[in-house]
Amino acid sequence: MDIKALDQQYVAHTYQRFPLQITGGKGAVLTDETGKQYIDLGSGIAVNAFGMGDDIWQQAVIAQLGKCQHTSNLYYTEPCAVLAKMLCEKTGMKKVFFSNSGAEANECAIKAARKWAALKKGPDCYTVLTLWNSFHGRTLATLAATGQEKFHQDFLPLPAGFVHAKANDLSDVEAKLAENNVAAIMIEVVQGEGGVMPLEPDFVRGLAELAKTREILLICDEVQAGNGRTGKLYGYMHYGIQPDIVSTAKGLCGGLPLGATMLGEKVEDVLTYGDHGSTFGGNPVCCAGAISTLRRLDEDLLAGVQMRGRYIVDALTGKPGIKAVTGLGLMLGVETEKPASEVIQTCMDHGVLVLSAHGRVRLLPPLNIPMDLLEQAVNVLIEACQ
Ligand SMILES: *Cc1c(COP(=O)(O)O)cnc(C)c1O
Repeated sequence: MDIKALDQQYVAHTYQRFPLQITGGKGAVLTDETGKQYIDLGSGIAVNAFGMGDDIWQQAVIAQLGKCQHTSNLYYTEPCAVLAKMLCEKTGMKKVFFSNSGAEANECAIKAARKWAALKKGPDCYTVLTLWNSFHGRTLATLAATGQEKFHQDFLPLPAGFVHAKANDLSDVEAKLAENNVAAIMIEVVQGEGGVMPLEPDFVRGLAELAKTREILLICDEVQAGNGRTGKLYGYMHYGIQPDIVSTAKGLCGGLPLGATMLGEKVEDVLTYGDHGSTFGGNPVCCAGAISTLRRLDEDLLAGVQMRGRYIVDALTGKPGIKAVTGLGLMLGVETEKPASEVIQTCMDHGVLVLSAHGRVRLLPPLNIPMDLLEQAVNVLIEACQ
């Protein structure tokens, strides 16, 4: 059976796939249908936190699968409650709403912010300010939140109530706050799809200050930067701020769909019975995987992420064909002289999988990738950039 032809014929053409069929693998090594192996610096876009088929993760998921694969949200399950407690204790947030994806986690954040503002500041206060070059998801509301017009084309009209300001430009933010009745500011501290661009610390602290003095909520979209990816449990923790709402997904469960919207003190009781829901949200198998993943994201593991990140930055910086390396921890963007697509293809030909973001090569390796594999892969990347 020609899987590629089958996929081309029957799966909607929303993804431009590489001519590569992944059949399995272990850890940071993936295998294609011919048995060829690849070192994976993409982790399924920051999802497989510990790589493919990690033993500890698999055991946690399979154990829960054998007990109860799903029940409705009309009943309690242990993994859901335990995971919510863990997330709150690790972040200082107060309550969690579980969903299945990053877009849904942001959707809930937006709904919570709107209801908070409606109750606190009146029905005209609903606008969410986000940054140009941001990415917040593909549902209509999160698309409207996304500050990249190329994603908006052909899907108009988008829901009202979103405004964009320039990243790292507090005066533009202030201008937009003056022109609009803003309920919340939503940021990614490292803009992932936007090319792996960390926001400047002064800008982020300035935003947090503005939000505080003007009684505006601060939402951190940690869908990609969260769950250890940047070398801290959540990316905002690099900046010394405390958001009011944190959304996350991708790496949270380590390979199964799970979104979480963490609600801080100001908004913990805003959403009440019937306000929001999800049939699959908080699925016990996904929550069991997330508990196992979060337990392992301790100081040692995070130090390892930072060490690996520094290794990559040091190895790539100043090499021929490499203009810049941006990012934090194991969320890195590489600006290359050659088109990123060419570098990605050369890497693939030489058994290394890397990603792209906004014209850059993007690296999101498994958080525990063995150093020897990482060195091998980085050397292939360096060659490919020349
Ligand atoms: C990937 C991503 C999303 C969307 O997540 P999905 O799970 O694809 O819906 C939202 N925000 C950020 C920052 C992301 O990187």
